[in-house]
Amino acid sequence: MKVVASSDWRDDLAFDTPTLVSDVIPGDDTRCSVCGGDSELLPRTELWAVKHRHPKQHDGYVRFYCLAHRPAVLAPPIAPAAPARKTASRSQRIAAPRRPTSVEDRPRAVCPTCWVEVPSTGLCGVCGETITL
Ligand SMILES: [Zn+2]
Ligand SMILES: [Zn+2]
Repeated sequence: MKVVASSDWRDDLAFDTPTLVSDVIPGDDTRCSVCGGDSELLPRTELWAVKHRHPKQHDGYVRFYCLAHRPAVLAPPIAPAAPARKTASRSQRIAAPRRPTSVEDRPRAVCPTCWVEVPSTGLCGVCGETITL
């Protein structure tokens, strides 16, 4: 699959995080990269875009996957950074709220024109439009 150079929506994708294709690049039905060229076309609401790291391309590359081939979401590698105090009780650890995974539980609105996240002010930083949250 060729990576198109003028594809800035890819820059906004987090690595290794499946994102609904219809959320990032709406368009015609397309195919899962694992199912291959002979497979059925799928609506983009049923396909997931995943940005993979590439040893030579800094920006990585994006592939589309159907639900069956969608890679598992990797947990962000943040755990060892802040060693929990040994005195923390087990119950506290269990009760700790789980951080929402970024994509499926998107906390912010996205400008429908620019496809960028809109800050809490509701003003799109690109086109200046006010987005209702
Ligand atoms: Zn597939
Ligand atoms: Zn905008």
